[in-house]
Amino acid sequence: TYVIAQPCVDVKDRACVAECPVDCIYEGARTLYIHPDECVDCGACEPVCPTEAIYYEDDVPEEWSDYYRANVDFFKDL
Ligand code: SF4
Repeated sequence: TYVIAQPCVDVKDRACVAECPVDCIYEGARTLYIHPDECVDCGACEPVCPTEAIYYEDDVPEEWSDYYRANVDFFKDL
């Protein structure tokens, strides 16, 4: 899955939402989240993000490694 990290917080540009072919990017209070089971790993969202917040799960920078879990947890309670 792809993961949305810290640069999206309080930005939520939503350029990725328009690109995602399976509509698996959802809006939270302060950031957007990618549904890990719905994402088809197409990569279309990554280059359009103006803040470079989106990473393939294995490529999330170390300082934002918590964001993988944050994306997963967001959907647990829905
Ligand atoms: Fe959507 Fe593709 Fe991005 Fe996954 S990688 S969130 S399917 S645009």
